[in-house]
Amino acid sequence: MDKRTIQVIMILMSVALMGISIIQFYWLKNGIDLEAQNFDTQVRYSLNRVKQNLEDDANQLEKLNRSIERSQSSIFNQEKDPLEKIIKPSLDDYRRDKLETQVANIAWLLNPEYALNSISPPDLSRYLRVELLSQGIDLNYDFGVFSNKDEDYIITNGKFNVVNVIGKSSNGGVATRLSQSMYQVNLFDGEGRTTIGSLRIFFPQKTSFLIKSVLPALISSILLTGLILFCFVYTINVILTQKKVSLMKTDFINNMTHEFKTPIATISLAADSIGNPMVKSNESLIERYADIIKQENKRMLTQVEKVLQIARLDKKDFTLKLVDINLNDLVTIALENTRLRVNQREGKINAHLSAQNAKVIGDENHISNVLHNLLDNAIKYSPEPPDISITTKDVSNGVEIKITDKGIGMSKEDLKRIFEKFYRVSTGNLHDVKGFGLGLSYVKAITDAHKGRVKAQSELGKGSSFTVYFPHDFSRVK
Ligand code: ADP
Repeated sequence: MDKRTIQVIMILMSVALMGISIIQFYWLKNGIDLEAQNFDTQVRYSLNRVKQNLEDDANQLEKLNRSIERSQSSIFNQEKDPLEKIIKPSLDDYRRDKLETQVANIAWLLNPEYALNSISPPDLSRYLRVELLSQGIDLNYDFGVFSNKDEDYIITNGKFNVVNVIGKSSNGGVATRLSQSMYQVNLFDGEGRTTIGSLRIFFPQKTSFLIKSVLPALISSILLTGLILFCFVYTINVILTQKKVSLMKTDFINNMTHEFKTPIATISLAADSIGNPMVKSNESLIERYADIIKQENKRMLTQVEKVLQIARLDKKDFTLKLVDINLNDLVTIALENTRLRVNQREGKINAHLSAQNAKVIGDENHISNVLHNLLDNAIKYSPEPPDISITTKDVSNGVEIKITDKGIGMSKEDLKRIFEKFYRVSTGNLHDVKGFGLGLSYVKAITDAHKGRVKAQSELGKGSSFTVYFPHDFSRVK
């Protein structure tokens, strides 16, 4: 997949994700709006029902007052036997009932405040609760009866309000909340009466209730969108990594071909020369050419060995041959092997082996390869005569070896990736150092296998230093 295709896919996927998110947001908002409308209708219906109950109560009360008055007067007037009235309800009673309702209405008309003041707070509380519950609304609420004449609430939350010295009732902020409420009905305002007051109700938890109603849909859509986003990012990441790996592998094949080309050409040249009749007669020349063939063959073998090593490490089918090692000794041997090459390039290498307890348990061959790889790199990546130093020191539970050079160094970005397999710093035409990009990944694999650590510090143009740590006994390290 080329870069352009990946970019197009990324853009399409981002647009699709954004579109899905916007549509989901729109539907959720619609859901909340619908829920809010439903809630409003239910509350308004409940308030009207409560209003009806209160007005019925006021009617009854007024009728009761009338009938008490009437029965008192009938006792005094001795018009009729009151007992007889109770036993024998007649058409008269029905008419009287009608009449009394009308009288009650007239009484309201004459004294409108009377009806408002006759509301029973416990009854009001009960009516509200029952009506709201019947609509499925089980939320906390504040409610109050507002008197237009007093310009204040005469009842709040089921109690008559006490008016304080400055003439204002103390209702603990309920009044402020109720004034903001959108839910209210006028009370006792029928049939040509003036509005004397209203019943108001406020739900402090209304918003959270509405959000809660769409919460399952909200959470599941966030989770699913998150999941899609995660899969998308993951897939793109995998594609990009694969692309990088495939590029690195191509580089590796090119490098390897290049590495083998020179020895193969040299061997073929030497073999041709041996076949030459002039050389055939000269034993010392034959010996020299045979030597060259041997050398080049060895070089190829080393390269093949390097590749095989890393392949084996990859499959994890390598076993460490554990022995007691003195790291100071191992460093000294590696140093001596390297010194010749450093001297050839007129460089210098010095050692400061200050570890007192340099004993570790490990695989001598692998650890020695680690040291050789690091020293090789220190020489390879020093374009000027190499200036290398190697030190050992005691650290807690182990030994630390540090190899420092004053070579080309690396940038921070490269430094993060040099332990990856096949990774080689791309230096353009600046230098032409051969390699497979396997050395440091091998170093990392071996230190890991010994439960050690390797870290690199470097500054571009100034040099690099690699620090490897090996524990004395890695089997004891958790
Ligand atoms: P190779 O040397 O075969 O390319 P390595 O795995 O040994 O592979 O190193 C990976 C890369 O790290 C190298 O390509 C090189 O750019 C960088 N590198 C390693 N050691 C040094 C060093 N001492 N100084 C500068 N760059 C280094």
